[in-house]
Parts: sequence; C-alpha cells; structure tokens
Amino acid sequence: MKDPFLVHGPLRGPCSICGTPAQLTVDHVPPKGIAKGTAMEMRDLMDRLSTDKVQGKFQLSQDGVKFRSLCPRCNNERLGAECDPELLKLCNHASTVMRSPLALPPSFTVEVRPMRVLRSIVGHTLATQSGRGPLGPMEEAMVEFFLDTRLPPPRQMECFYWPYPFSDQVILRDVSLGRLGGHPPLFFKLLKFYPLSFMLTWERDVPTWNFRMQDLARYRRLSNDDSAALIIDLQAVPPQRWPEAPLDDCMLMMAGKPMIAEPRAERGAR
Ligand SMILES: [Zn+2]
Repeated sequence: MKDPFLVHGPLRGPCSICGTPAQLTVDHVPPKGIAKGTAMEMRDLMDRLSTDKVQGKFQLSQDGVKFRSLCPRCNNERLGAECDPELLKLCNHASTVMRSPLALPPSFTVEVRPMRVLRSIVGHTLATQSGRGPLGPMEEAMVEFFLDTRLPPPRQMECFYWPYPFSDQVILRDVSLGRLGGHPPLFFKLLKFYPLSFMLTWERDVPTWNFRMQDLARYRRLSNDDSAALIIDLQAVPPQRWPEAPLDDCMLMMAGKPMIAEPRAERGAR
C-alpha cells in the first residue's frame, strides 16, 4: 500500500546529514516508540493552554512524517542506537506524568543524557527534507555537532523545549520570526510532537526574544555520556500555535515547506 506520509526521496543519494552517498533509509519524525497523545487524556493540561486556530496554509498529514534522507550510519547508529533512546526516555516519562490522573506538579525532572537528546533533535531536524544537504552556518554547525560526539553544541545555538499536549505535529525548518519595531529577527527550526516541542534557535537576540522555556543547550558542558535531571516546566507553556502562528506584533517568514500532521481519529470532527 502506498504510504502517503513517506516523503519520497531517491533510493540512493547523499545522506542529508553527512553527505555520504548511500542506500538511503527512512527517518521517522517523531521517532518510533514515542507515546502517542490523544486530546481526551490530556484535558487537564490543555485546560491551561489556549488552543488557537492555525493561521496560514499547512500541509496536512495524519500519522507522523517520514523522510527517506539518511545513510544507515546516521540513522541507525547515531540516531537509532545512541541518541533516540534518550529522547524516547524523556518523552515517555513526560507523557506518563502529563497523563497522570493526579494533580499536575508545576514542574518535574527526568534523568537523561541531555547531549544525546539534543543530537537526536538536531539529527531529525536535518533529516526533514529528502535530497537536501545542510545550508548555511546554522545547519553546517548542527552537522558538525551531530557527527562529532566530542564537540559541545555551537555556542550560537539554543534548543528550547516545552510540553506539547496535542496530538498533531509541526515541522518547520527554514523560518524566522520578525517583530515590529526594528528588532532583529529570530531564526529557528521547530519540531513539535506529543508530548514536547523543540525549537532550535541561532544567534537569538536575548532582549527581543526573551523566553521562559527550558534550554537543552545549557547543558553544553556535559559530554555525550553525562546525565542530568532535565526540568519539564508545566507552567512556562506558550499557546499551542506559538511560534508558527505568532502574536500580533510578530510575523513568521518561511522558506521551504512547513507541515502539521494530525491524528487520523480526529479527521471526521473537522
Ligand atoms: Zn549520514
């Protein structure tokens, strides 16, 4: 059966991360094994959040997105064996707490290896376009960090993360957020899927773009093997459609193809 959510790339070609010519493998966003969300189970947290309507045009798909874009080494070894298990641990622990019938705590922690989580996010972001290599200083630095596990993340890069108790997914790769009044724009890349959102930023102007969310890159001094108790903050949560549907004094500028994936079960209701 034809899978409409496989973004078909060539069977052979250069890997979207390391550039090695290879038999290309399919990258799943989010990675397989992450708990799926449903609106019912997360009503508590959703009550705290505004659920804005999407603005602008987005490509819809229903069950995750797959990109045939990576060589087996980047996909199966670096991501699959080394880094994704840490992202899964973080997401699945967060999901368990967020679905708990008990009153939600203001925040909680999950013990993981933060640099592996960050490499996982960086790798899946770079995989989200078949037949394309890294473009520009941010992506080139992301590739270097992904491939050499002895390196700290680039100092210009941050990776904000926050709870995302919604069952759709958003992938934005080449975007910037502008703000009226002559402020420097915010360059970022975004992966949102239940239960967390991740936003990679580059050379953020701190006074203009002052966020309260947690930043994975603040663990930049840790090695790839070191663990830390990552904070999941249930209080510093922006609206569902932030930043892809920005607030009034901001505008989103996009190149490339943004995506939102919606769960199959909710289709009939729309
Ligand atoms: Zn590769």
